[in-house]
Amino acid sequence: MNFEDIIVAQRTFFNSQKTKNLKFRKRNLEKFRDLIIKYEELLYEAIYKDFGKSKFDTFTTEIAFILKDIDFYLKNLNSLAKPKKVKTNLANQFGSSKIYSEPLGCTLVIGAWNYPYQLSLSPMITALAAGNTCVLKPSEVAENTMKAMAKIINENFPEEYLFVAQGGVDEIIEILKFKFDKIFFTGSTKVGQIVYEAAAKNLTPVTLELGGKSPAIVTSSADFEVAAKRIVWGKFLNAGQTCVAPDYILVDEKVKDSFLDALKSYILKFNYAPRSEHYTQIINQRNFDRLVSLIEQEKIYTGGNYDAEKRYIEPTVLYNISWEDPVMQEEIFGPLLPVLTFSNFNEALIRIAENEKPLAAYLFTKNSEEKENFCSKISFGGGCINDVIMHLSNENLPFGGVGNSGIGNYHGKFGFDSFSHQKAVLERATWGEPDFKYPPYTEKKLNWIKKLL
Ligand code: NAD
Repeated sequence: MNFEDIIVAQRTFFNSQKTKNLKFRKRNLEKFRDLIIKYEELLYEAIYKDFGKSKFDTFTTEIAFILKDIDFYLKNLNSLAKPKKVKTNLANQFGSSKIYSEPLGCTLVIGAWNYPYQLSLSPMITALAAGNTCVLKPSEVAENTMKAMAKIINENFPEEYLFVAQGGVDEIIEILKFKFDKIFFTGSTKVGQIVYEAAAKNLTPVTLELGGKSPAIVTSSADFEVAAKRIVWGKFLNAGQTCVAPDYILVDEKVKDSFLDALKSYILKFNYAPRSEHYTQIINQRNFDRLVSLIEQEKIYTGGNYDAEKRYIEPTVLYNISWEDPVMQEEIFGPLLPVLTFSNFNEALIRIAENEKPLAAYLFTKNSEEKENFCSKISFGGGCINDVIMHLSNENLPFGGVGNSGIGNYHGKFGFDSFSHQKAVLERATWGEPDFKYPPYTEKKLNWIKKLL
């Protein structure tokens, strides 16, 4: 396969204006939705081969998201793409002003492996909805899902419009040498920097959806049952391999013991057996070894068992943890949940603010002053009060990071805008214009301009 030919063909196709047609966009979104439904079993089989992810999890966290996205753009495309009329200022009377959402052109979407369908296909769907062509490069780490997406897309769409590039780091480095009009990357901060550098050579705009250590704070006024239940669900979903999973807990030291008890009871209740309907494997040996090396035996509150053959790590809560522990040095991205304590809520916020800005943050409390301080004093991509992860399921909220956790955002209207250029057009009437902006300039004209401005 020659990437250059595909990219040249996509540019020619984009320039033919066909992708801008709303009927064309809708037809292709509907076609893709039908393919997802037709190949649903193939998608389940591939992800199970990659890391034992169950049908239930795959539907709720991947397929449902993709179908919901398609539905959203089919319903809202006309209004999203319609030029928006805005006010015209006095100096430009008599005139009218509009903003056109213009597709950017040839886009590149680079996906991560942990939600291999959602993180590749959701931005791809958004790119097409906004009227672009797209090259999709899913993560080679989840090899079977990459092949499944390539089969479904490459056998059913012309490569001049939509193409799945397979391969690993060498291939992506090769692709990044070409000029795109937009690059949308999901993955680690380290690789995000490499992609940003490559994009800068062509002044290509980027959206970078990166990671980080996302805290969950539990204060003394929190409803422990709700907090423990929701944190356990969000942390051990996908065996902790979720970019917005609570990475660690900061709990008020006064209530630490009862909260730890509640965590343990939900872990037992949710029955996280190896290779079961309820629990996923670690993606590969490298990540398995990295995670096992972070388990300090004397700090295990519950869990700590693992099975290398099944790449299974039991949900593990670690306590008596300090900021200096190895598990607190980088994003965990696995089923280890360190619990730290605080004695003063505002000091805990200051401690969080000293770290890199996280992708998500969560607060469990009933106290409105704490809620207000949480929202105003620390910076994070997005988050929840009294829940985890669910903010990303609301397409009316932008999803993205800040600082080290990312640049830009997507979902719903925000995704559409991130794959569009907001083109400003002022139309002037050819009559009714005072002539003071034209030379020769006089004191009188200046006075008029001063009055006007
Ligand atoms: P990764 O950065 O290793 O890989 C992401 C993509 O980059 C893959 O497609 C891979 O092929 C490609 N890649 C790898 N090395 C490259 C290189 N040298 N040059 C160019 N491309 C390269 O990330 P990952 O392991 O797939 O995902 C885990 C990370 O992603 C975590 O940090 C997680 O928090 C983050 N993440 C973020 C989000 C989000 O929405 N913000 C979602 C999922 C994962």
